[in-house]
Amino acid sequence: MARKGDKEKEDKGVVWNLKHIFHGDDDPRIEEQKKLILKRSYEFIGRWKDRNDYLKDPAMLKQALDEYERWMRDCGTDGNPGYYFWLRTQIDKNNTGLKAKYNKVEEFSKKIGNDIQFFHLRIAKIPPSLQKKFLAYKGLRKYRHYLERIFAEARHLLSESEEKIMNLKSTTSYGNWVRMTSDFLSREERRVPLEDGRIAVKPLPEILSLTSSRIRNVRDTAAKAVNDIMRKNVDVAEIELNSILANKKIDDELRGMPRPDLSRHISDDIESETVDLLVQSVSEKFSLPQRFYALKADMMGVKKLKYHERNVEYGRIDKKYSYDDSVKLIKKVFADLDGQFAEIFAGFIRNGQFDVYPRKGKGSGAFCVHHLISQPTYILLNHTDKLHDVLTLAHELGHGINNELMRGRQQALNFGTPTSTAEVASTFMEDFVLKEILRRADDELRLSIMMMKLNDDISTIFRQVACYCFEQELHQTFRERGYLSKEEIGRLFQKHMAAYMGDAVEQSAGSENWWVYWSHIRSFFYVYSYAGGLLISKSLQNSVHKQPKFIDKVKEFLSAGLSESPKNIFLKLGIDITDRGFWNKGLDEVETLLQETQELAVKMKKIRKGA
Ligand SMILES: [Zn+2]
Repeated sequence: MARKGDKEKEDKGVVWNLKHIFHGDDDPRIEEQKKLILKRSYEFIGRWKDRNDYLKDPAMLKQALDEYERWMRDCGTDGNPGYYFWLRTQIDKNNTGLKAKYNKVEEFSKKIGNDIQFFHLRIAKIPPSLQKKFLAYKGLRKYRHYLERIFAEARHLLSESEEKIMNLKSTTSYGNWVRMTSDFLSREERRVPLEDGRIAVKPLPEILSLTSSRIRNVRDTAAKAVNDIMRKNVDVAEIELNSILANKKIDDELRGMPRPDLSRHISDDIESETVDLLVQSVSEKFSLPQRFYALKADMMGVKKLKYHERNVEYGRIDKKYSYDDSVKLIKKVFADLDGQFAEIFAGFIRNGQFDVYPRKGKGSGAFCVHHLISQPTYILLNHTDKLHDVLTLAHELGHGINNELMRGRQQALNFGTPTSTAEVASTFMEDFVLKEILRRADDELRLSIMMMKLNDDISTIFRQVACYCFEQELHQTFRERGYLSKEEIGRLFQKHMAAYMGDAVEQSAGSENWWVYWSHIRSFFYVYSYAGGLLISKSLQNSVHKQPKFIDKVKEFLSAGLSESPKNIFLKLGIDITDRGFWNKGLDEVETLLQETQELAVKMKKIRKGA
């Protein structure tokens, strides 16, 4: 039952128009499409399951892959019904009827997924001697990298029965350990003062966010509470971490992985040499975060920041941006960058691909989603007129533009981005929009925004690389010694935190245990991708600033999807990401911002002189 108000909103393009997929939750085409998906899937399975000619003859493999690609383009395992009900549940979270419908489609999809996975698994088993022949075959050119990725993973796979055991055991040897610590932490509560003056009992996530409060007493008391919670749980975490480090060591030995981070690099489609160079280039510029924290301490009128104070916001950012303001601003930035960006944005608005405002039952946060190559992109926002919301819109649009550029150029099996470069487009757009906002702001606002931006960039680039180095030493030391005490883990942790923060941040007593809640160190070596994505984005920004025509190369990169590894995509554009100069260009952008911020702070007499 659509009320008039809803209709008007829809017309203005601020709620999702899902009619591109179905006309409603009971559209009779939903059942029709499920039947069609079943038919298409089992036709494919029936045709290829009981033969192996396509594993020997490249021409046959091409035929099979063409068919598989068409299936992935038109339906996959859940097609429009899966996408539609997933989207519906995101904007109507409390509707149990919808949840039930979505669960039904999921069940349906899982069954097909299980029945069709033989195809992928058998391709992985093509012997290395034949792989070369397949990769060299002209007819398979458009699937070459798709095959390369399968073969690269297959190199470290065990036999089918061994893989099955690994699978069955992974919950007890890894998952349950990690869950135990996080479950214990999630039960913790402490009485703490809040920003509005009340005192209340709060769980850990809220206490953690209070450690960055502008009010000193609030943040210091919150930090004490965090120290207390970490101290209480550190013995359990010590045993947990040692167990998962041991499990990882066993896995790597069984799979013949010479270094602990290799499995991550393979699954992210990035070469170890590229990650090594990234980590090295960033580590060599740890003087940048060190200068930033010294500046921040100076501006906050203290000699040193305490460990938990490093993210306290400087100044106030209270300018309001309505959704229309945000749209206008971003349209201008996009139009200056490239006409196609602005066109894609206008198309999203025209077709109702945004859901803009918060409302009851709608999920929080923001995302941009794509599913099959044949289905439209949708973007969810929760716009509340803050600066942060403008940047979020730009960020999600970056993902959206990435989708549309890939859609135009790639086959269905290459429609996507590897984790290593998934955030390049989003941060690229975000940063250009922020520059326009800065251009229009007065000095006071500009200084606050620049401090916020530096804080974010430094956490994303330097903190994550420091964490990566911490993980490397953690795994290596564990492998040498066989067990690490909580004191040893704490020492390693503080060593790597101090390395990038420098003298202006105190490694405060108690913070040696703050690794206990850092969930990312349990998803081994994931964090480099945050730093890598943002630095690639900044390096590209740097080139566009110097030479606006470079945007054509950026577009080439954004439309390449999974067709090649990032290294080779860039090589085709004449850019070598295994060259230090590439990463330094990105780091130069951070340095320039730091320099400008410092000069502005001096000009506004917030500090006495430049450091
Ligand atoms: Zn993102």
